[in-house]
Amino acid sequence: MSDRATCHDDFDPNSLPVPRALQFITEKIAPVAGFERLFLRQALDRVLDEDIRSPRDVPPFANSAMDGYALRGDDLPQAGTAELTVVGKAFAGHPFTGTVGTGEAVRIMTGTPLPEGADTVIMQERVEPLPGGRIRIQAGHRAGENVRQAGEDIAAGSVVLARGRRLQPADLGLLASLGIAEVRCRRRPRVALFSTGDELRPLGATLGPGEIYDSNRYTLHALLTRLGLEVLDLGAVPDDRAALAEALSSAAGEADALITSGGVSVGEADYVKGLLEELGEVHFWKLAMKPGRPLAFGQLGRCYFFGLPGNPVSVAATFYQFVAPALRRLAGEAPRRPLTLRAVTLEPLKKRPGRVDFQRGILENDEAGRLTVRSTGNQGSHVLSSMSRANCFIVLDQDQGDVPAGTEVTVQYFPDLL
Ligand code: AMP
Ligand code: MG
Repeated sequence: MSDRATCHDDFDPNSLPVPRALQFITEKIAPVAGFERLFLRQALDRVLDEDIRSPRDVPPFANSAMDGYALRGDDLPQAGTAELTVVGKAFAGHPFTGTVGTGEAVRIMTGTPLPEGADTVIMQERVEPLPGGRIRIQAGHRAGENVRQAGEDIAAGSVVLARGRRLQPADLGLLASLGIAEVRCRRRPRVALFSTGDELRPLGATLGPGEIYDSNRYTLHALLTRLGLEVLDLGAVPDDRAALAEALSSAAGEADALITSGGVSVGEADYVKGLLEELGEVHFWKLAMKPGRPLAFGQLGRCYFFGLPGNPVSVAATFYQFVAPALRRLAGEAPRRPLTLRAVTLEPLKKRPGRVDFQRGILENDEAGRLTVRSTGNQGSHVLSSMSRANCFIVLDQDQGDVPAGTEVTVQYFPDLL
């Protein structure tokens, strides 16, 4: 990476601020090339690779906003009442094909095209039906009322969905309303992952002394799936130079990005470092955040590399803060500022100044509807159950110390990820 120096010159690499690292990572990443045309039913959660312009006005024709009577604004009484003759009906799918003349009205239902000659709709509750197909209306109406004009929602030619949009259910309905059946979406990035560590055993194996199950791979696989990526799970790799070299180069050749967990802490990092430098360019950072201090980021050939720490909570936190935004960018999503909320902490929070803390929290409304947050308990970076119970990170600034109960704090709500 050419401007590697900037991040070392400006900041102490032993405590790289989180926003700086995030900016560096996202600036380095270019979206994958390649696209495919997809039918709407296949396009949910896919990233648009074109601006969608409306081929037509929406609504396509002026229509009634109410069940009532369509008439000419000129026939509205200024004072007293007026009587009109009902000359026909306009129901959904069966518009009135004649013209509404002076002194005439047409019975009309919501969404039905306004007949020729009419420019106003009076809601039925405000109309008095008379014998002989006549109606009486009072003064106090406005010409043009209760009419939805053609193009009022979307004008023909305007951009309704921009390139970089991750398509949501309502977007697909919107496209269908425009008669668009197919969209051009960016190719899904292919992301490889593997765990590192001699202590890791696969599910189904009996654990020997000092061995643990490889849980990170399951968390990461699920996170990548949620992001709509193609996942290539390469298993667990022992702490062995040859095995790692093999895994790294095969992943780099096959994937747009590689995510590993473990092996980036002090000591282990030095070991992996040499290997990675042979294959590409990688930075090892000590981030000013807790949990998840060590992080490696770089490129192995054309493959982006994210080396996450091994502790399961650190994996989730660093993924959420760095890898998810980076992969969204890789997938072609337009950048967006993450949404944070303010909530009152129901409990005191322990915090030492020095690093940004992403504590695991449970965000809820109290009976009064106020946003409150409480801690999930033990905040150790190995306590995965506390991550599993959480629905948000409580973000405590670098300089912040202990927080008393009742204080408003910043939270990142993640209902859909983690
Ligand atoms: P490391 O970063 O490799 O030093 O790992 C830090 C801690 O995370 C150690 O306790 C590891 O046993 C644990 N760990 C590393 N990888 C995994 C994994 N894939 N699943 C569960 N725990 C892990
Ligand atoms: Mg390890």
